[in-house]
Amino acid sequence: MSTSATSPSTPPVYPAAYSGIPERLLHKAVREKSRLWENQSKEFQTPRKRGLAVPAGIGRTEFVKALDELSQSLGKDHVVLNDQPLEDGWYMEHPNTHDAFMIMDEEETVSSACVYPGSVPEVQLVVAWANKHLVPLYPISMGRNLGYGGAAPRVRGSVIVDMGKRMNKILDINPDDCTCLVEPGVSFYALYEEIQKRGYKIWVDTPDLGGGSIIGNTLEHGVGYTPYGDHWGAHSGLEVVLPTGELFRTGMGALPGSDAWQTFPYGFGPVSDGIFSQSNFGIVTKMGMALMPDPGGCETFLYTFQHEDDLLLLVDTVRPLRIANILENVAQIRHATIEIAVSGKRRTEFYDGTGPIPAEVLQGHLEKTPIGRCNWVYYGTQYGPEKIRKYKLDIIHQEFMKIPGAKRIDPQSLPKDHYFWSRAKIAGGQPDFEELSYLNWVPNGGHLGFSPVSPTRGSDVLKLWKIAKERHDQYGIDLFMTFCVGLRELHMINLVVYDRGSPERRKAVEKCMRSMIDDAAKSGYGEYRTHLLFQDQVARTYNWNDNALMKFNEKLKDALDPNGILAPGRCGIWPERYRGRGWEIGKDGRETSEGQGVRPPAGSTRL
Ligand code: ADP
Repeated sequence: MSTSATSPSTPPVYPAAYSGIPERLLHKAVREKSRLWENQSKEFQTPRKRGLAVPAGIGRTEFVKALDELSQSLGKDHVVLNDQPLEDGWYMEHPNTHDAFMIMDEEETVSSACVYPGSVPEVQLVVAWANKHLVPLYPISMGRNLGYGGAAPRVRGSVIVDMGKRMNKILDINPDDCTCLVEPGVSFYALYEEIQKRGYKIWVDTPDLGGGSIIGNTLEHGVGYTPYGDHWGAHSGLEVVLPTGELFRTGMGALPGSDAWQTFPYGFGPVSDGIFSQSNFGIVTKMGMALMPDPGGCETFLYTFQHEDDLLLLVDTVRPLRIANILENVAQIRHATIEIAVSGKRRTEFYDGTGPIPAEVLQGHLEKTPIGRCNWVYYGTQYGPEKIRKYKLDIIHQEFMKIPGAKRIDPQSLPKDHYFWSRAKIAGGQPDFEELSYLNWVPNGGHLGFSPVSPTRGSDVLKLWKIAKERHDQYGIDLFMTFCVGLRELHMINLVVYDRGSPERRKAVEKCMRSMIDDAAKSGYGEYRTHLLFQDQVARTYNWNDNALMKFNEKLKDALDPNGILAPGRCGIWPERYRGRGWEIGKDGRETSEGQGVRPPAGSTRL
């Protein structure tokens, strides 16, 4: 999107653009882009009020000189200053400059520059440069982590290291072992398309939107919806550049000549992979992943449940079936409000009032849809040949129908454009694009995720649901609640959809988030992932035994990154140079994302 154009341009297409949308999905991307375009009152470009964001601890002239030095070794085109008006773009053309789904003022989470290394030695070169000049780096793979900060850094003025633009090769797909090895710029779309092209009978597990990178999503503990939905659990082997520039490989990758890097994740000795996920301890340059063999068929099913309170019984019904692998995939239990929002229609088509859409109004609209009146919807998928699927589907039916008012919806009764068919694709290992539609719910739609985890237990889920509902009601936000069914736990994913063009709505959303995080922690629930600006608050809810976990993380940070150059503050982990200077944003929030500077360089360990 750009201010000058009178209509939206065609989104980038894969494989011409490594980060593009596959041709088969282009019509959806075009549709979504024009819907968002028409529903945007916020300016497409925001003029800069504060000029170039120079990182704390270095003067402007010194910084610009240092960047010039970097562009001499990396190439002019691969070092780009971020001093132009900010363009929010959208999912397929997201910005590398700031968080397009801003919560605070957009210039709070803005970078100073973006660099594009083209090889591992070039990543090492960038790291050496950052240590020399004490400049904070923020590595991204593709930066499509929208709702959690996108490509934005936690520390204003950090230099974004965009790993994906020039390092986007699929290094290996092994159809016998069902594994792959990828670079940071490989999206779920790209891997899927390549597998199809080669005609391999293997599947990629994919999140709701497939445009993000496999590495970024996995490092963030993202989930997908086939039986391989736990991406971190499916990864095998990392290659990492440490904040001091050394390169190393985890697991079997440490053994020269081993061919088991992607088949045995542990190797020998402590499993070090974990410290590179949701952290700021290294830059991942390669990752291996297990892929699912084509199970020889799959079948998605849909049940609806009438009453809000049915959630308790439903979850308790799901638990034993899921643990016993009768229910086979990471299914979704969704609140019915999302059913109408995912149609891509605007909220005003359903309800004109302020505050959350009233239950009766919602039910009135649902009545006109193929699924009818209900409060919860279960989308699940079974795998294998028909005989095997039928055996398990019968058990599921028997158990689900014990819940009074439960209804199985026959997929054949659903129109071709019903959201069901998108869920069926995703659970069948085919990345899609439908989920973005709910952004059209409000003008200038942005979203944030409130994502606490609980055991698969009705009593827990009711508590979390009550917390989310009360706070959404308090701040006048529609509740978009989904539970992703893990093996023994549920990820409750509340998508808080808001008008990012309205500073008042952004403030309300921030307060709602901070209250929910706090309420959930008081009841013993923690988030599995969160937006940049809530990471301090969430990290500090994991505070058992006098913050023992954070003390351990800080020890690791100081040992691995003595100059504190790598993603300071990511996941609430602050390097020594920043600690005790007011960088953390606690549960009360505040107007600035910055603290009071950093420890001066005199005592630093310049490498
Ligand atoms: P995606 O495009 O897959 O949605 P991102 O590239 O935005 O994901 O990655 C999500 C987050 O994970 C980033 O904000 C960053 O903190 C971290 N991250 C991503 N890629 C890397 C990497 N290669 N090395 C280290 N951290 C990374």
